[in-house]
Amino acid sequence: MFSAKADEIIKTLKKEYPETKYYLKFSNPLQLMVATILSAQCRDNVVNSVTAKLFQKYKTASDFTKLKEEDIKSITFFNNKAKSIREASKLVIKKFGGKVPDRMEDLVTLPGVGRKTANAILINAFDKVVGIVVDTHVIRVAYRLGLTKNTNPEKIEKDLMAAVPKAEWKRITWLMKDHGRAVCRAPAPICSKCVLSRICPKNGVTK
Ligand code: SF4
Repeated sequence: MFSAKADEIIKTLKKEYPETKYYLKFSNPLQLMVATILSAQCRDNVVNSVTAKLFQKYKTASDFTKLKEEDIKSITFFNNKAKSIREASKLVIKKFGGKVPDRMEDLVTLPGVGRKTANAILINAFDKVVGIVVDTHVIRVAYRLGLTKNTNPEKIEKDLMAAVPKAEWKRITWLMKDHGRAVCRAPAPICSKCVLSRICPKNGVTK
């Protein structure tokens, strides 16, 4: 059953962030797979600035099997991420004919690709919505707003899928990310300036 509160939150956030959109730049599913692997615990603007050059140099899955660490060295954990991208690209070639797959069960078999990344690829590259991308902003904002009592991303995703109509599963992540950056910040939210303050229980907020 969808929640009236989730509905009000979405309506309010849509008014507040009318220009909300997906935050990583890409032109095809392979580029998005690479960008999402790079984006774990790394700022989107850093990822976008690195991939702007990276995608000029590396075009195919075969190119990415030879990814050099030095080409992504300004990204957090670049060694591990370079390895994941090389291995994921090898698997894309070996198992999926060089094309990033468009099914959740296939995507999560790729190194560096968990459910969050797979959801991001499915939603944004293939327009296939089977879940909700639960990133660090969604974890924090959904909890504070009382849309979940969980801290585990997969449980939060289930709670949000139950509360939010499917038509909004794509946009809810973007809206919460915008709100999490602008107002509901970690560690200190600016509740006095928040459009949701009236209906927010501010769970876990201490000041
Ligand atoms: S009222 Fe405070 S805790 Fe609640 S959403 Fe707004 S900023 Fe976040």
